[in-house]
Amino acid sequence: VPANDRNAGLVVTVDLGGTKILICLFDEDGRVADQEWFLTEARRTPETVVESIVKGIGRVLTRSGTSIAALEGVGIAAAGACDTKSGVVVNGPNLGWRSVPITRWMSDALGLPVWLGNDGNMSALGEHLCGAGRGCNNMVYLTVSTGIGGGIIANGELYVGETGMTAEIGHMVIQSTGPLCPCGKRGCLQTLCSGTALVRNMRERLAMGASSLSMFHPLQLLDLVESKPEEITSHIIFEAARRGDALSLSILEDGARSLGRGLTNLVLLLDPQMLVIGGGLAVHWDQYIAPAANELRRATYPKSLEGLMVVPAVLGDKAASMGARAMVRQRSHKR
Ligand SMILES: [Zn+2]
Repeated sequence: VPANDRNAGLVVTVDLGGTKILICLFDEDGRVADQEWFLTEARRTPETVVESIVKGIGRVLTRSGTSIAALEGVGIAAAGACDTKSGVVVNGPNLGWRSVPITRWMSDALGLPVWLGNDGNMSALGEHLCGAGRGCNNMVYLTVSTGIGGGIIANGELYVGETGMTAEIGHMVIQSTGPLCPCGKRGCLQTLCSGTALVRNMRERLAMGASSLSMFHPLQLLDLVESKPEEITSHIIFEAARRGDALSLSILEDGARSLGRGLTNLVLLLDPQMLVIGGGLAVHWDQYIAPAANELRRATYPKSLEGLMVVPAVLGDKAASMGARAMVRQRSHKR
């Protein structure tokens, strides 16, 4: 099908995470016409995962009666460092991928143009165009979850750098003697304040003999923290802190302080108008993000704080897909 016969605006997106894969079909008006998700099962080979994505796209198109030739293109938002020019997932620790030429594989299989972006970058673009950052030309998006990622909107456009591997915010070194990160360095931001970091800190403090108020507490939820360290989740720590557990409060305080240092570095470097924060830990806004923002206010030049807004993301788990759609629209027009 010649490119000019394709249906402008009909786009399929793939949000490729370490845990699950979300496929969306967007109509011409940018609405999700159909979607499907399934588990990534990252232990499979990249070839097998890509094969399952291609099949998933086929199912979505069949269900909605859309011909593959009508699509403008496919946009992938992948968890990992992506070379967006060559369309290669360079390093995706959560996927177990290294140097996977996913756009070539997928465009060979589908006969369509395929573009790739990092999921944090794509979420930034989504929140900028359709979400909390609408109309804001200089913003930084952060996702604080099991890891930390993000994206930068500078002068109204996604900042892509030389290779597309920008805004690896979770790997800014905050504490050079800190915990080892999967990337090989020590004290990366995400080793200090991601959900994974909070849980690791709680387990370590308990193993060193710290006690939690929960041992005196009748509630089973809090008993978990004391008796079954392997079942601790970040949400249990937040719940225990809400109920006054001193150990949980202290772990959250340390985490928020580190997160605040990361935010401070971003503000000093980029002078944004807005920080948009999403991800699983952002739901604990008052307990975690607000104290981090206070640390930022304490540590940054007063001038850079004038008018700076720290706001929650609003697109939830659709942010990366909406950004990936926008990437397809922008890049197919530039071809
Ligand atoms: Zn790292």
